[in-house]
Amino acid sequence: MVLAFSHPVWTPARSDRGWTRGMPPPHCSPIRTASHVRATLSEQAPPTPPVSAPPAPPSTEDETVNAYVARPPQTSPTSIDKLVAELGHDPRSGTSPLNSLLANPSDQTVSVHAGERVRTPLNLKAMLDAIHTPIVQSATFTFRSTEDCIEYNRGTYQSYEYARYGNPTTRAVEEKVMALDHAEDCVLSASGMCAVTTMLMALIPENGHIVVTTDCYRRTRQFITTVLPKMGIDCTVLDPADMDGLRRVLETRGADMYFSESPTNPLIRVVDVAEISRICRPHGTVSVIDTTFATPVNFRPIDFGADLVLHSATKYLSGHQDVMCGALAGRADLIKKVKGMLGVMGGVVDPHVSFLISRGMKTLGVRMEAHNRNAAAVAEFLSRHPKVAKVHYPTLESHVDYEVGSRLFQKGFGGVLSFELRGNGDEWSRETFEATGRFVDGLKIPYIGPSLGGCESLVEQVCIMGYFDQPLKERKRLGINNGLVRYSCGIEDTHDLVDDIEQALRFV
Ligand SMILES: *Cc1c(COP(=O)(O)O)cnc(C)c1O
Repeated sequence: MVLAFSHPVWTPARSDRGWTRGMPPPHCSPIRTASHVRATLSEQAPPTPPVSAPPAPPSTEDETVNAYVARPPQTSPTSIDKLVAELGHDPRSGTSPLNSLLANPSDQTVSVHAGERVRTPLNLKAMLDAIHTPIVQSATFTFRSTEDCIEYNRGTYQSYEYARYGNPTTRAVEEKVMALDHAEDCVLSASGMCAVTTMLMALIPENGHIVVTTDCYRRTRQFITTVLPKMGIDCTVLDPADMDGLRRVLETRGADMYFSESPTNPLIRVVDVAEISRICRPHGTVSVIDTTFATPVNFRPIDFGADLVLHSATKYLSGHQDVMCGALAGRADLIKKVKGMLGVMGGVVDPHVSFLISRGMKTLGVRMEAHNRNAAAVAEFLSRHPKVAKVHYPTLESHVDYEVGSRLFQKGFGGVLSFELRGNGDEWSRETFEATGRFVDGLKIPYIGPSLGGCESLVEQVCIMGYFDQPLKERKRLGINNGLVRYSCGIEDTHDLVDDIEQALRFV
C-alpha cells in the first residue's frame, strides 16, 4: 500500500499572519481545504475571480491570502482522502464511530474499543501528517478481513502481523540506517550485543569457522569463544592488519565469516575493509564490520565491498545515552536470514526506543562533526605532552593504521581515543597505575564511566573499567597497560576539553 503525500487539509488553513502549514506559494496548484474552514474564510474573501483569468499580482498580504482561498475547491478526492474514506468512520453518519459498528455496546465493550476500533478520518490523517513517525506501541497488528489475512500470508498485501516480526516505527529507523549505510536492508534489535549474537546464530552453520581480530569488543569475543564452540563453531584470531594471515586462513581451511570492528576498541585500529572484502569475496566468506565507533558519517564499509555493517545504536546513532539498540545493515539475503532468527530468538527493540533513535539520528551529522573535531584536537594536544607516552588516534602519523585510516576515512574517526600515561616509566607498575587514577579523578568535565556516543564526555582507566577481572597475562597480551586511558569526547567545546585535560595532567 503506497500512501501518496499531498497537502494536508486538516490543519487550520490560515493564521492571523498569513501563510500556514500546507499552503503552497501562489504559483502552485490550488489546494483543497476542509469544508468548514473554507466556509469561514470565504466570508472575508473578495468575489471569486474567474478560474481561467490569471489573478493580478496581489498588493497586500491579506489580498494574497484571500485570492488564494477564493479559488474553487478541487472536487476530486486526493489519494489520501480515498484511503481515509475507506478506512475511517464517516462523520456524516451522526453516530459515535463505535455505534456505526455495534448498535448497543455495553460499557465494558465501549471502554475496550471506543476511539480506536473505528478510527476517525481526522486521526487517521493526523497520523499520516505528523512530522515524526508515530510510536506504534502495539504488539499485535490486525486484519480487516479474511481476504486481507490470506493476501498478507501470500505476500501480496503488505502490513505487520506481530511486533516480534516487525513494527512501523522500528522500520522507519531501519530505513534511515539503510539509506546512510548504502545498504539493501537493515534489521534493528534490542542491543548491539543482540545484533552480534543473532547475526552469528543466523549466519554461521554448525561446525562453522569464523575469523575475528584481536582488538575486538569484549562481549563479542566472549560469545565467540564460549558459546559458539557448543555448536562446533571455532574461530581464528588475527591482527587487524594481517592480510597475509587472512589469505592463508581462507586458502587453507576457509571461513564462513570475517568479523572485525573499525575503528576498534580501545586502541582505535582501522582495518583495510577494501582489501578484506577483496580477499573474502572469492572464498564466499561473509565480511562484517562493526562500525559503532565510526557511524556512516565517517565510514561506510559497504562502499568498500563489505557484506554487512553492525552498529551498537546505543552509542552514536541514538546519541544521548538513554536507550539500547543494535542495527545490522547490508545484503538483503543475509538480513532476511537474521530477521528470521530474530523472530525466533526474540531480541526485538521496543518502538518507543526506535522513536528515540529516530529523533537522535536527525542530529547525527552535526554531532559527529563535534565528536571528530574534539577527539582530533585532544589527540594532537596529548601527542605533544611530555607526560603522555603514546596516543592512539588515527589522525596522528604515529598511529599504526595512519595510512589505511587516511585512505578510508574522510571526515574523522569519531570521539573515542585512548592514550598511555608515562607514570614512572614502567607501564605495568603500581606507580603508573596510581598516577593514572589521579589524572582521571582530576578531570572536571568528563564523567567516569564506560560507553561512548552521548553528548557528554566520558573517561575510564581501561584496566579498571572493562578489564578489571582480567589477569595481567591477558592484559599484557591485549596491550591494556596500567597507564591506558580511554577518553570518549562528547560535544562540549573543544578548548574546554583540552584545558581540562591539561590541568588534570598536573596530578600525574
Ligand atoms: C557497545 C558496543 C557493542 C555492544 O553494544 P550494546 O548496545 O552495548 O549491546 C558492540 N560493539 C561495539 C564496538 C561497542 O562499542
